Amino acid sequence: MSRAVFSAVIRGAHQFVGEAEEAWKRAVDEHGESAPLKFPETAFSLPMILALTGREVRTLADCEPVLKHCRQDLLHEVPADRVWLPYLGHGLDAGAATMFAQEILCAIDYLNGYQPGDGYLGFLTDTTMREVGIQLVDGRMPGFAAVLGPAPDNETAVKIVRELQKRNILIFPVTNRDGRTMKEQLDQEGIQTGWETYIVPTGPRTRDGIFVLDWAVRSALTFGGLKPGSFQQILQYSRDRVFAFGITFGSIPDDWYALGAGAILMGYPVISDSADTPEVRPTGVTTYEALVRETDYDQLVPTCIEVRGVKVTVEEVDIPVAFAAAFEGERVRREDMQVELGGKQAHCLEYLHTVDMEAITDGDIEMVGDDIDDVEVGAATNMGIEVLVAGREMQEDFEGILERQLHRYINHATGVMHIGQRHLVWLRISKIAFEQGFRLRHIANILHAKLHDDYGKIVDKVAVRILTDQDEIDKLTEAARATYRQRDLRLAGLVDEEVELFYSCTLCQTFAPNHVCVVSPERPGLCGAYTWLDCKAAYQISPQGCNQPITKGRTIDAATGEWEHVNQFVYDNSNRTVEHYCQYSLMNHPMTSCGCFECIICIVPEANGVLIVNREHGGMTPIGMEFSTLAGQVGGGVQTPGFLGIGRRYMLSNKFMSYEGGFPRIVWMPKDLKEEMKEDLEARAEVLGLPGFVDKIADETIATDGVALVEFLQKVEHPALAMESLLG
Ligand code: SF4
Ligand code: ZN
Repeated sequence: MSRAVFSAVIRGAHQFVGEAEEAWKRAVDEHGESAPLKFPETAFSLPMILALTGREVRTLADCEPVLKHCRQDLLHEVPADRVWLPYLGHGLDAGAATMFAQEILCAIDYLNGYQPGDGYLGFLTDTTMREVGIQLVDGRMPGFAAVLGPAPDNETAVKIVRELQKRNILIFPVTNRDGRTMKEQLDQEGIQTGWETYIVPTGPRTRDGIFVLDWAVRSALTFGGLKPGSFQQILQYSRDRVFAFGITFGSIPDDWYALGAGAILMGYPVISDSADTPEVRPTGVTTYEALVRETDYDQLVPTCIEVRGVKVTVEEVDIPVAFAAAFEGERVRREDMQVELGGKQAHCLEYLHTVDMEAITDGDIEMVGDDIDDVEVGAATNMGIEVLVAGREMQEDFEGILERQLHRYINHATGVMHIGQRHLVWLRISKIAFEQGFRLRHIANILHAKLHDDYGKIVDKVAVRILTDQDEIDKLTEAARATYRQRDLRLAGLVDEEVELFYSCTLCQTFAPNHVCVVSPERPGLCGAYTWLDCKAAYQISPQGCNQPITKGRTIDAATGEWEHVNQFVYDNSNRTVEHYCQYSLMNHPMTSCGCFECIICIVPEANGVLIVNREHGGMTPIGMEFSTLAGQVGGGVQTPGFLGIGRRYMLSNKFMSYEGGFPRIVWMPKDLKEEMKEDLEARAEVLGLPGFVDKIADETIATDGVALVEFLQKVEHPALAMESLLG
């Protein structure tokens, strides 16, 4: 490592450790040694220190040995006599010291009441770590970039961000130079930031960079199922599995160097735009080079991708606006909108169905009625989107699955917002997209290209009709409604006993190597995204893929849902860690959880029932743990009797922990979840002959601890109290 880099890293590390020591002393004087230290909504305290040293820091007192370790073991002096060091060792130690010091500094900030500024996220919660985890898993997001800026000017900031978004790379802008930040530059250019647009500013200070690394290291712990303290494995996992890199704009100050050394320790290379930056190119710690120069802004992002080995596919669709998954979450606000299709004021539907091979020509696009050129600005109008597909491998069962992709595809166009499905679609097209030439007929181009891309195996021909003519829309609506009804009946009528095959889903093994979802008609995958029909279709589309058929084999126990072949399959596919597996039980060999569950079920022994908490709920539950803490207990691909990650619709199933009595065991769930699912929950209670049951389920407005919960349950005579003991 060149001496200049080395000295800068070490100076930066000294600076952070010094600051942390001082902040710590002041905090101890002010709050006392036993004052609690923690970041909001995480089960990992403090994540980087925990991951790399195995030490839990929960109070100010716990920091002392960590700071000593930094000072005594990790901070070295710059050797005066050598120009070049053959390895990175001491520089990486300084990177570790920097990360620990920054983490302590930020935790003390929170102890002192720190609030991230407007539009900044500060510490990134476990929930977001998991939510984004699924996107990394399903390939929507190939990696992430920490950008140390500001960029030299607003134009470059926008350019680089757009280049990264186009490739669906998550962007974390951090640091400032003379008070100016990249976030400010993006704000000035009207670029939306936030998780939805893949631009996540954690804070304007250099130390706020630790929030990004903290986020990355928790995914190693969570999805990799790695133990705190096993630093070699964690660093290796993060190097091999988390495709991240750093970008620095301008000459690099010492504190950025120190942060960069932390990133390099995690296996993330840093790419600098400055001609003065000395390169560091030994390989081994990072997959490729560690510190690389790229002064040409056109080449900056491609260089990053090459150096880090990120696998990206840029989607090429012939439309006048940019197209990528990173634009999926972009909203079109009313003031920015050219026209609206559907929504409250109008009607819009989408309907995909199969036709005979001879009936269509591939690529046929028909516009029936006028496009939006003459629609008044800001007005709402009606539309129908009819997609006709044909293919030798196409089956009716796939129609619903393909149709559900329309939402994603259409949203990937910048300046186009799509909400809802079937006959309840709501689309907005922004003024900017309109000015750039986007028209309704381009929706057809998108759908034609993407259906071929993703479903080329089953779809040979795709034709699209865009309808604004009212008679045509009415005709389409009638036909579509009949089909929607049939589709619902088909899945609703399927029961586990009547199918020969279940399907596996091992998509999440990228992150939770031992996790297998067993998906049956009456039990969807725990992310809620994969039903039995989805898996069946996915298997036919790619027979070598993550969804494999499982024959049941000899029944070991029909009540718990244990079968010989299913056991064998789960054993073989969980790296031989899960020997028994029961499809219908919470307490006996339940399904493992990867990390992407929509909800967690958890036993409440004193209530003889279970609570269900969804990911969106931030508050406390009656068992004394928030969702994020529970998620830490459940995830990682291990069986945890009494705890289970589930897709929310599973609670309506006949096979919902049926071995333990199922639905009537539910004693608590967040109010919002109860409201959202009210109709379905009530229908289910009706079927079970439990009228009024839903009102007997407590929520956070009734109880957030066990005592209050049981009191309420007794008052309303909740059926769980009279059921057989859950603990057996
Ligand atoms: Fe992951 Fe299971 Fe969903 Fe498949 S079904 S994506 S394994 S959570
Ligand atoms: Zn998962």
